Amino acid sequence: MTSPFAVRRDEEHFVDAAQDLAPQFAAKADEHDHEATLPVANLQALHAAGLDMAAMPRDKGGSGLSYQALGEIFRIVGKACPATACVWMMHLGAAQALVSYGPSFYADELQAGKRFANALSEPTGGNLFLMPLQRAEPVADGYELDGAKRFVSGCEIADHYLVNALVDDIPAFFGVRRDDSVEMVPIWDSMGLRGTRSQLLNFRKTVLRSENRCLITDPLAPNIIALGLPWLSIGIAEAALDALTDHARKRVVPTTGAPVSDMQWVQFDAADAHVKLLAARTLAERAMWLADRAEPSALTAAVEAKLYANQVAKEIAEFGVRVGGGSGYLRSSPIQRHFRDAQAGALMAFSVEVCRDMLGKHVLG
Ligand SMILES: Cc1cc2nc3c(=O)[nH]c(=O)nc-3n(C[C@H](O)[C@H](O)[C@H](O)COP(=O)(O)OP(=O)(O)OC[C@H]3O[C@@H](n4cnc5c(N)ncnc54)[C@H](O)[C@@H]3O)c2cc1C
Repeated sequence: MTSPFAVRRDEEHFVDAAQDLAPQFAAKADEHDHEATLPVANLQALHAAGLDMAAMPRDKGGSGLSYQALGEIFRIVGKACPATACVWMMHLGAAQALVSYGPSFYADELQAGKRFANALSEPTGGNLFLMPLQRAEPVADGYELDGAKRFVSGCEIADHYLVNALVDDIPAFFGVRRDDSVEMVPIWDSMGLRGTRSQLLNFRKTVLRSENRCLITDPLAPNIIALGLPWLSIGIAEAALDALTDHARKRVVPTTGAPVSDMQWVQFDAADAHVKLLAARTLAERAMWLADRAEPSALTAAVEAKLYANQVAKEIAEFGVRVGGGSGYLRSSPIQRHFRDAQAGALMAFSVEVCRDMLGKHVLG
């Protein structure tokens, strides 16, 4: 019997397209991590495969891809190259907001291969990225922002930014075309997800044009980023489990003369990792299923899925470091990269702590 969360037949070709691209993404993942370079060719390949527009609403020229299929695609891309998945998710998330709630030219820009990024997090705002503290002051064409946003994944290749600021004391979203008033500050020498190049942006009296205002009625409504983030961690966790399994099978323990995989503690932890990954995936699939049906509980389900997937990715990646021993600690091993990459999901908003805070309060009333 097929899973109730299975990808629909008519959408399988989108998933297949991602599956076809995955080997070439995986082959370059270490290089992008080591050199901290943006995986530009991967992002262009995803666009060329039609996956940018696929995720947009039908009435805006997209294919209205279901969240269920999109999650599966994020998992595949995230497993192959998590930096690609992260930058692409931010690109699609910003595009979704601008295409759905902004002026009509944003759909044409996406179709033409232009790139989008989210400039929402503020240096002093941390996790509260939906509640900007910076004000934009009224000017002739709209509002002027003099401030900074940080950790803007893929900002260096972006043509358009989704930016928020306080306008008349209310959080407001705008599309901002990149121009000379936007200054990049290269802060991104990071522990993991190095290929995302999530730099700080200074907006120097940048005009947030009224005509590019994005009338998002409910910023907490299910969206690509909130629903996609669990899948990024699931992809990393799968890659970590594959890498440790490969090592455990091949590495012979000098003291026993048998492979690492023969030891009972490794088998026990492998069983736990397998089941936890299955559970994380089921929670993420459930969130997608609810979002595809526009169920109000989808966002809470996404928070539940993110919390668990982030934690499982960190646990499995840490198990990999134990199995890998000194060999896994070397840069030549993928095990250490998965460990570093696995930390990011838990930090990205809403962080694991913020998710626990939200859900804990919900549980306790
Ligand atoms: C790899 C990566 C890519 C990113 N890409 C983008 C992007 O493209 N665009 C963008 O706008 N942003 C991006 N971000 C920013 C991210 O989504 C968060 O908004 C940002 O990391 C949060 O700020 P902070 O890390 O300084 O944490 P802070 O919010 O300062 O948190 C510090 C600590 O306090 C905890 N904490 C904070 N608030 C609470 C609370 N209420 N209850 C309990 N604990 C709390 C946190 O869990 C954390 O442990 C990215 C971040 C990373 C790591």
